[in-house]
Amino acid sequence: MLTLITKPEEIKGAVGEIRAGGTDLHDRYRLGVSSGPIIDIHKLPYTDITQNADGTTTIGAMATIDAVGQNPITAKGYGALAKAANGLATPQIRWAATFGGSLLQRTRCWYYRHPQLPCTKKGDAVCGGRDGHHPNGVIFDHGGCAHPHPSTLAAALLAYDAHVRTTEREMPIADLYGDGSQHDRDHLLHQNEILTHVTLPAPVVGEKTAYFRSMSRFEAEWPIVECSVRLVVRDGAIAAAGIGAGGISQIPMRLPNVEAALLGKPATQATLEQAAHLSAAGANPLPQAAWKVEMLVGTLLTAMELALAD
Ligand SMILES: Cc1cc2nc3c(=O)[nH]c(=O)nc-3n(C[C@H](O)[C@H](O)[C@H](O)COP(=O)(O)OP(=O)(O)OC[C@H]3O[C@@H](n4cnc5c(N)ncnc54)[C@H](O)[C@@H]3O)c2cc1C
Ligand code: SF4
Repeated sequence: MLTLITKPEEIKGAVGEIRAGGTDLHDRYRLGVSSGPIIDIHKLPYTDITQNADGTTTIGAMATIDAVGQNPITAKGYGALAKAANGLATPQIRWAATFGGSLLQRTRCWYYRHPQLPCTKKGDAVCGGRDGHHPNGVIFDHGGCAHPHPSTLAAALLAYDAHVRTTEREMPIADLYGDGSQHDRDHLLHQNEILTHVTLPAPVVGEKTAYFRSMSRFEAEWPIVECSVRLVVRDGAIAAAGIGAGGISQIPMRLPNVEAALLGKPATQATLEQAAHLSAAGANPLPQAAWKVEMLVGTLLTAMELALAD
């Protein structure tokens, strides 16, 4: 059964799993992991990317990932986000998938995506990944689920202190994902709660940005580790920094210790190298995923070098 809604209030009483672009949901249906009724929201009118009078920018949840990457407002004012959008998945996915769906997609863990393998996120008693095969597992472990959060754009938005708006409330982007202790969730929206908009602070003039990922093939793949970087350099010193990282924990992460280590320091290679090494502080990797700690340091260093050269 499919219920098409064209206004947000029509979600009340509707039964099923929400579909926006359908690129994640249909894959789960095809694999036999999801089934049952669908609530189709793709006609909701949240496609605009708008710069507001106070300088902030609002992006509708139904904007495509391609629009987030290509729109002049995001491309000019929010380079780390736009570069992350342009760098994920494939052109076909970026044209079909929505900004909201990219933030609310389900985990890519192969135990979750296999109909016969056990996974607590599917309601089973056991997490297959934690005691099984997890070379791409978390390196900042919060217990429970052992697979990293899948959303590239969530990590980028953390670097911007973005806020999300839903049909029920507003909150900082970090609160959409919690602290990693909600083990059976990929996000913390309620049933039938629709993400409608994301708001970013005003752009910072002259900001240098980069997005860089380490991955096992050139495209059409999720990253092993990914970093979004914002740097502001004034008089040769780093005056502001924002860093979001994905592929490393059950939740997308901001790296405040790295940001703090950059602030006020000369914008040099030595500063970047020193700060990049701090990204490994506090890592408690799963046994088969320990190799990713070094990969985080290298990925972050490359992303910061690219930002400085921007
Ligand atoms: C080959 C390939 C490579 C990929 N690589 C990456 C990558 O590197 N990084 C990355 O982040 N992603 C990657 N993806 C995943 C892709 O980004 C997601 O499939 C896509 O963003 C989901 O968006 P959608 O609109 O199609 O969501 P849908 O499939 O429609 O929905 C996904 C989920 O989000 C919920 N949802 C969607 N919109 C809303 C809303 N507005 N309010 C409430 N709930 C909602 C739905 O209930 C559903 O559970 C890749 C996909 C493929 C196929
Ligand atoms: S690691 Fe997470 S997604 Fe994978 S089986 Fe365990 S609970 Fe499920």
